[in-house]
Amino acid sequence: FSVDPAAHNPARHFVGGKVPLGLKRKGLRVLVTGGAGFVGSHLVDRLVARGDSVIVVDNLFTGRKENVMHHFGNPNFEMIRHDVVEPILLEVDQIYHLACPASPVHYNWHKTNVVGTLNMLGLAKRIGARFLLTSTSEVYGDPLQHPQVETYWGNVNPIGVRSCYDEGKRTAETLTMDYHRGANLEVRIARIFNTYGPRMCIDDGRVVSNFVAQALRKEPLTVYGDGKQTRSFQYVSDLVEGLMKLMEGEHIGPFNLGNPGEFTMLELAKVVQDTIDPNARIEFRENTQDDPHKRKPDITKAKELLGWEPKIPLRDGLPLMVTDFRKRIFGDQDGAGT
Ligand code: NAD
Ligand code: UDP
Ligand code: UDP
Repeated sequence: FSVDPAAHNPARHFVGGKVPLGLKRKGLRVLVTGGAGFVGSHLVDRLVARGDSVIVVDNLFTGRKENVMHHFGNPNFEMIRHDVVEPILLEVDQIYHLACPASPVHYNWHKTNVVGTLNMLGLAKRIGARFLLTSTSEVYGDPLQHPQVETYWGNVNPIGVRSCYDEGKRTAETLTMDYHRGANLEVRIARIFNTYGPRMCIDDGRVVSNFVAQALRKEPLTVYGDGKQTRSFQYVSDLVEGLMKLMEGEHIGPFNLGNPGEFTMLELAKVVQDTIDPNARIEFRENTQDDPHKRKPDITKAKELLGWEPKIPLRDGLPLMVTDFRKRIFGDQDGAGT
């Protein structure tokens, strides 16, 4: 098996490797799996705006057509309703592989992460496309190192209730590196830390969406455990910028993509109160099993090698999400957010 090192380059399709003038920089053909989801749809917006031809493959399991509907009718955009667990034949230059139910209330992570990732790697191998995996900070499990550096191998319970997600993504990373080493595939791996923003699933159980929806509905904010566990929250446009820099850059990774601003869940609840309703009550609930005690990215590597760092602090990003949630919860017609 031989691979053209410039396989992602459209020039490879032409004799002598030169793109005929008329076709030059008309944009790449890019596949975004999970492109109708929260992160994927924001990525699609940027790629379409850049002039790429974008294909979304999504089974709409947690994604919504409304997230990408504004591109319907654009000849440079196509959406295929398809489950990545089944093979698919397409011709593209780059694959952003995001398909995966990202919330704690969905369970069939493993099949999508393992079989779905395998299929997308097989596709990338056949057509010589560059492949980017969106992995997660969850690969660090309940970390014994703080903040987490990419060289840390993690502390994951292989048989715990969260393991279908953690171990599923760890397997996806392994498969990605197998295809890189074994089939010479060009790959990129992002380890994404908790991300929030417009178009996030409203009822998927993640903490930012829960608190925002609860405050808007005048329900108490449900803090699990003692609320002293920490997370670091990244605004979605910062993440999309990082993913594109990673795809276009020369480095495989893995790269932590996250905002180092660290908050306890009680601090987060306070930010939500300040942003939406200072009178919102807090209600303590029993915590879930194996909940990581703290999480914060060390982003030195991404800063140095990708020239990337997040720009939007939680207190600036949260109001943008609240505007979108308000519209969707209270029945505004324009649910797509911005
Ligand atoms: P999301 O649930 O909004 O988007 C995932 C998309 O994948 C959805 O549109 C869903 O319908 C689709 N999908 C799921 N299973 C599929 C399948 N079998 N075939 C085809 N499509 C399928 O979640 P998101 O927050 O946008 O996450 C995107 C990616 O980023 C995921 O891989 C997730 O693991 C990763 N990630 C997200 C976060 C975060 O905080 N948002 C953190 C770490 C990692
Ligand atoms: N695959 C796919 N689309 C393609 C090429 C492959 O969905 O264009 C799937 C294929 O069905 C297989 C997986 O990707 O299940 C892995 O493919 P690979 O060629 O690496 O493995 P093999 O088919 O040789 O087992
Ligand atoms: N959490 C909470 N209240 C909620 C939902 C979650 O206090 O309504 C806590 C949860 O226990 C965890 C943190 O918020 O400590 C982040 O949870 P989430 O599911 O959003 O992300 P992950 O655990 O995957 O980082």
